[in-house]
Amino acid sequence: MVTSNSYRGRLAPSPTGLLHLGHARTFWLAAERARAAGGTLILRNDDLDAVRFRLDFVDAMLEDLRWCGFHWEEPMISQSTRRPRYRAALERLHAARLIFPCTHSRRDVLEAAGAPHEGGADDEPVYPRQFRPPADAPLPALGESISVSWRFRVPDDEAIDFHDENLGPQRAVSGRDFGDFLVWRKDDTPSYQLATVVDDAELGVTEVVRGADLVKSTFRQLLLFRALDWPAPKFFHAPLMLDDHGVRLAKRHDALALRTLRVQGVKPEDLIRRFQYQATMGASAD
Ligand code: GLU
Repeated sequence: MVTSNSYRGRLAPSPTGLLHLGHARTFWLAAERARAAGGTLILRNDDLDAVRFRLDFVDAMLEDLRWCGFHWEEPMISQSTRRPRYRAALERLHAARLIFPCTHSRRDVLEAAGAPHEGGADDEPVYPRQFRPPADAPLPALGESISVSWRFRVPDDEAIDFHDENLGPQRAVSGRDFGDFLVWRKDDTPSYQLATVVDDAELGVTEVVRGADLVKSTFRQLLLFRALDWPAPKFFHAPLMLDDHGVRLAKRHDALALRTLRVQGVKPEDLIRRFQYQATMGASAD
């Protein structure tokens, strides 16, 4: 485990599409915060999504990050190489009886959850309490290779608080605002929630800078940090960038992909100037 008293931030892109303007702005904020603190910035390749992963996206991601002028210390860390670390954390959660196997499909969960959930399209529905086995039910072994999903059992109705370095005080109630969440998938891969917590803890990240779409995930991750007895980093959630129609930028917005802009003759310094301007004007200056 890396331990350090000084600032350590990270860029954590997923190679499932081309990076766009919104990524560049979040990464610029991450880089600025690391620079201002005289700290270190590392690069983590979030390549656990076997279905959407493409090797050419990793190359494109590196090229685009370099074009933007980002620098990171230390060789890039790919999550796909750290599986044993995630499995070790899963075993600790299992030994502490904090997880349970889930055989319900996504459709079962959606149907049982009923009305559209408040988290919006970005977030998963609250896992129905009636689907969860009793806390004292015998817990099956994990087994060498996993073919069933495992979920973290969130405390019933506990208010979880954290101070966001950008958004201020944040609160969610576990079991209401979010429910039992995946830590391991039935295709035997760790979930994003578990992998990111293991990495942020073991790689000594002191502040996580990422998009505000992940605020709700932060509450889940805080429960994992606590369960694994690791100190949580600080969090800075950056405002999401919207397109001209007020829709959040996504990887499908090819028009705003960094390489499209580059081909159109946009220079990285133009982007940085725009980000600097937005930072001084507040998030509304998209
Ligand atoms: N790889 C994730 C994404 O691109 C970011 C995860 C994180 O910053 O924790 O959305």
